[in-house]
Amino acid sequence: MDSRRSNGATMHVRGAGRGKAGRKIRRALVIGAHPDDNEAGCGGTIARMVQEGWDVTYIVCTNGNKGSHDPQMSSYQLSARREEEQQAAAGLLGVQQVIFLRHEDGTLQPSPELRAEMALYIRHFRPHAIFTHDPWQRYMLHPDHRAVGFAVLDGIVNARDHLFMPGLSQIGIPAWRPDVVYLWCADQPDHTEDISTTCALKLAALDEHRSQQHSLGPFVVALEQQMQAWGQAAGFMYGEAFKKIPLNEEESAAYLIIEKKDTVPSLVWR
Ligand SMILES: [Zn+2]
Repeated sequence: MDSRRSNGATMHVRGAGRGKAGRKIRRALVIGAHPDDNEAGCGGTIARMVQEGWDVTYIVCTNGNKGSHDPQMSSYQLSARREEEQQAAAGLLGVQQVIFLRHEDGTLQPSPELRAEMALYIRHFRPHAIFTHDPWQRYMLHPDHRAVGFAVLDGIVNARDHLFMPGLSQIGIPAWRPDVVYLWCADQPDHTEDISTTCALKLAALDEHRSQQHSLGPFVVALEQQMQAWGQAAGFMYGEAFKKIPLNEEESAAYLIIEKKDTVPSLVWR
């Protein structure tokens, strides 16, 4: 994945292992509240990253068992069906692994428990890039989206600093600092990825979530227009826009300069 339209810096890949052909393995973790959030949020970028050799893991936090308008549908049937749909969608994009946390849909809180859970997976998978919800998106109704966004960001702090959860280091799960976080549905997007060659794949992956057609139908039409508008603003045919939060020292330093474009600059601790 390149970092066009960020600030000209290239992504620094630290701690990458080597695959069979000796190439560096770069890992990404995509963490969404419900089955279909990951495709909607960053499916085009993920498809391109997989094609570029990234190893991508999905985490789906809830079982999605409230997402139906069908009066005949039960929560039990729905959660099983949504896992199948999520596997099919992830398979289309080339995602290597999907982890289902199976929390009850609609009940997530940005609790210390969820934060610790996120930190554990981040330390385990050692991702260079993390994608998740922007919890600061104004007027976003769904509480799970906010809860996951906050828990992931808080979890990154717990994952990167070894004095958090010290027992994990003692059982061989040391601290891990990702290089960058991308927030989708961002309140203030500042980075666009080129998905001109993978936008169709993203739409096909969304189409795998057939139990969600009641809400995805009109949403997908608007989403395609949004991806076109984002892309064209950045010089691409289609794009996905994110709030990019660099965590490695080189890019964080560069970003402090970018963020001073506001009339009153804010100093941000990450
Ligand atoms: Zn959702």
